[in-house]
Formats: sequence, C-alpha cells, structure tokens
Amino acid sequence: MNRKWVCNLLADFSHPPWTKSLDRVVYMSIGKGGEEQIPFHAYVQPNDTCTVKAHHNATFWSFSRFPEEIQLHILAMCPASTLFQLMHTSSKLRIEASKQFWANPNVYFYVLEKWLMDKAYQGDTLWDVSFLAQVQNVEVGYSLDIDERIYRQQNGRVEIESNLADIFWASLKDRIPNVKRVILNQHSGTRKMGDVLLAMQLLVEASPPGVECSILITEEKQTSESTPWNTDTFQRCLIQPKEQGVWEKRKPGKFRETVLPPPKKFEGPVGRFMELLYQFGWKIPPQRSGLLLLMVEALDRHHFDMGQHEPFSCPFSSCTAYFSNGGEWTIHAAEKHYHDWEKLPEYLPNSSAGTDLRERIQALDRKRREVREQFQKIRDAWRTSHEARRREMKYSMIEQLANDPSWETEEKGEKHWVWEEFLRAVSIVKVGIWSSVML
Ligand SMILES: [Zn+2]
Repeated sequence: MNRKWVCNLLADFSHPPWTKSLDRVVYMSIGKGGEEQIPFHAYVQPNDTCTVKAHHNATFWSFSRFPEEIQLHILAMCPASTLFQLMHTSSKLRIEASKQFWANPNVYFYVLEKWLMDKAYQGDTLWDVSFLAQVQNVEVGYSLDIDERIYRQQNGRVEIESNLADIFWASLKDRIPNVKRVILNQHSGTRKMGDVLLAMQLLVEASPPGVECSILITEEKQTSESTPWNTDTFQRCLIQPKEQGVWEKRKPGKFRETVLPPPKKFEGPVGRFMELLYQFGWKIPPQRSGLLLLMVEALDRHHFDMGQHEPFSCPFSSCTAYFSNGGEWTIHAAEKHYHDWEKLPEYLPNSSAGTDLRERIQALDRKRREVREQFQKIRDAWRTSHEARRREMKYSMIEQLANDPSWETEEKGEKHWVWEEFLRAVSIVKVGIWSSVML
C-alpha cells in the first residue's frame, strides 16, 4: 500500500471506547485507497441490539399507538437494518421507512467513474443496476489512471472533454434518477494531483441542477516536511463549490459510510464465469484486507478493552514501540507497519476473539480455494475440449451476451468485453486479475 493512504486506514479503524463487535463484516480494498466499504447485505443485516423481528408484534402494537409525529421521529432514529426490515414487513410503515432508508445523508452507494463514462450499460457492471434507481447519494470511485480521458492539456491550459462530462452526468441521471448528492472520491492512482483536481472541478461544474456535488481527495499537508517514511504528511480533504468560482475545502465528516450495491444475479454460462470475477475482484480480497483491520483492533482490545489495562510491546520483532494506552497500537500499526500487515495473523491473541478471527481467515481461504477450483474446471473444460465442443461453449456464451439484458453493452458478439475476458482467463499466458487467481 502507498503511504499516502494511511490517513484512510486511520479513519477505518475503530478507536476506544470500542462499541462495535469484532465479528462484524468489514470490506477494505487496498487497491482503492484502503477505505472501508460495506457490502449491502451487511449494511442491512440486523445486529443483536436492533432486532425488531423477535418482538415485532408487541413492539409494533405499542408503536402504532403513538401519534404520527412521534412515529416519524422514532423512525428517523432507526438504524438502516430496522428500516429495511420495516420496508419489507410493515404495510403501514413501508413508505415512510423507505423514505428514511434512502435519504440518510451519511450513506453513499458506490459506483465506478469508468462505468458512467462508458454510458453505464447494465452489461458493463457487476452491480444490480435496478437497485440504483432508488439511490439518492452516490460515491463515484474516481481513478487518476483513467482520467486522462476526461481532460487534456493544451498550451499550458487544462481542458475538459465536455462530451465525456455530458455522458458522465447523463448516465448518472439515467441510472440513478433520484440522485441528490454525489462525491467524486479519488482513491487510486499515483499521478500528481494539481491538474487532476482541476479536471475534477470542471466535472463538478458540469453537474446538473439539483445535484449537490463534492470532491474527496488525498493531499499532502502543506505545513509538514515530507520524508519517505513520514505517513503523517497526507490528509483527506472534501472540496465543494460555493459561489461562482469559489471552492471550499474542509476535513470530511467522520460519519460517511460507503455501501457497495448488491451484485446482479449471475445466471447461465456467462453468470457462472462472471461470478468468479466478482468473487476475485470485489469479494474475497476486500474481505481478506478487512480481516487485517479487525486483527489490529483485536490485539488492542485484548490488552485495553472491558476494563483491562495491560501495556504491551509492538509484536513486530524489529520494532521497540511500547503501548501504555488503548488505541496507541492501532495508530502505530497503521502508521509504521502498513506495508507489513500480512504478518498480523501471527500476532493474534490467544483469546476467543483471536480464535474467531483465525477461523474467519481459514473460512475465507477455503472459499478462495473453492472458487479457484471452479475457475480451473471452466478453464480445463475449454482447454481440453475438441473444436466442436469449444464452438458450442462459445455459442452459448455469445448467445446469452446478445440476448440477456443484464449483459447489454455497446460492443457485441466476439467484441463483448465479457467474451474477451473469458479468452484472457482461459489463455495459457496469465494476465490481469487471472494471474492472481492462480497463485
Ligand atoms: Zn511497531
């Protein structure tokens, strides 16, 4: 991981007093700046303290006797999981619960900039596109490595490709018609910020009326002296347009959550193959990285949670740091050992929390092996088949790509990206994501 993303890790961590359970689901993608992302199924999963199902009848009976104004007030305080349950179980509260669920200003649903730039075809994403129709707050993952498409430098000036900006906003309004807030979150790429920020600002200026748009970037602090190992020199900034030509820069709020939309239904021969890509691209690696965050927290809590106070030394053998208070180890692990986290499983405490995390790592490793075996079966079936059988396999995929609306995109037939991805996956030369699948 690049040291500039350490500020994201610090924001991901739970710090004392710890209020969340260690058995929660955490997704974190190192390739996307190390920010925590919550899969939709975990976002709407009730936890032990907010289950309405068990006492649903009695609770609802009391609740329904309150005046409407009080009912709405109570709903506004309900967690997403409760609102989601009410949307599916209560005919009386469905509409109001749904309004509250989608309007939460601290929750943003994630899509990729590239998808919007490419006209947001259903077939170009692995998310369930119909779900996005309800969404009001959108976080757009903005990669510096592809934004050369948006802007160009000419005679020392930066110019935006207005055509692409129009496509971007038209796609967004078309797929997410209820959109009210957009954050362009720059969280990958290594190129210099200057011109890129200007390009992002031009994109914001092209936003349609009624959409509040802001930019989230990681920038070098101007006051600190940067040294190669000083992670403290980077910070996250939220930039918003004010009056004409004036931009306000401030620290982002602490409470924003990024939720990954649910995946599309993976059906048929295309679905069987693409689900593997989803598992290897969007599910297993971020779960694995999320467990590393929980491992850091588990060691801290083993020494300083639930009334314990047991100072301890840094478990990394080359380090002499000593932690006298809860939370110190967590910050230290992010700032000093972010490049060496693969060793963390060795330092898990011998406690039930440590055992649970070890079991979760093993379960994820089993899942990875299982998905890899499925991939090997598909690859071997292709490689060992005679020409006629290969033609059949190709026909079944190309036919589904042509007729299944969930895979509709601009390029058709053999030029469809899914078919090209399939050929890359089954080829002898390992490329792209498929080279890591076979490790
Ligand atoms: Zn250390």
